[in-house]
Amino acid sequence: MWDFGFLRPLDEYENAQLQMLKVLLSSIQLDLSKEDKIQWVHSVDKVYTVVDGVKVMISSNIENDIDWINVVWIKFVPSKIAIFHWLAIQGGVLVMEVLGYRQCLRDITDDKCGWCLSYVESIDHLFLHCSWSFKVWASLFYWWNVSWIIPSSILEFSHDWGNGLGINASKLWKLIGPATLWAIWIARNELVFNRSYKCWAATVDRIKLKVFQWLVNAKVCESYQVYIWKNQPWLIM
Ligand SMILES: [Zn+2]
Repeated sequence: MWDFGFLRPLDEYENAQLQMLKVLLSSIQLDLSKEDKIQWVHSVDKVYTVVDGVKVMISSNIENDIDWINVVWIKFVPSKIAIFHWLAIQGGVLVMEVLGYRQCLRDITDDKCGWCLSYVESIDHLFLHCSWSFKVWASLFYWWNVSWIIPSSILEFSHDWGNGLGINASKLWKLIGPATLWAIWIARNELVFNRSYKCWAATVDRIKLKVFQWLVNAKVCESYQVYIWKNQPWLIM
């Protein structure tokens, strides 16, 4: 008999999943003389490679209707930030709401956004809808002289953003989305863990400089062009 030792009663869906898992496991004969090992089921030799991982992700794209290469794995965006963006789309960033789901909050009602103190800190609220984050986005749009309606979810945001929003020089513009998600997360962590409130305007400046730094590092532009970047960024390319 399998004993999974759950800490809380399972709901109907989880129970159904558990029953399926039990059926799958019941056909498996364990060989206690062999060591356990991890296998990647999507390749013939059972060994994981990044190429295989990307292939699986792209093929699952048909279901999700997300063009991952355009939306997340954007040229010049550091992989750490691209992975963070991907995690946010998957609902895996540890905001208060997610911590609550995972029963990691001491007080279940202590799940409010640190900036506005009014709404549950969900991924969509923190990155898109909070008044603090909204000012950051509004300022960035003003900088590029475009208007946009903030979408309802991070998935919708990523889809729109990855398609360039019809903006000229969208190759540059596309870098700003993930850079902003990352900057919001860093500012949020400063608030939650260090009680240090970051001004949204200073965060906007940091985002502009960070993206410019990526472009300089990639030799897309020269550091003396920072003035153009700050005033008419679409002229850089
Ligand atoms: Zn908020």
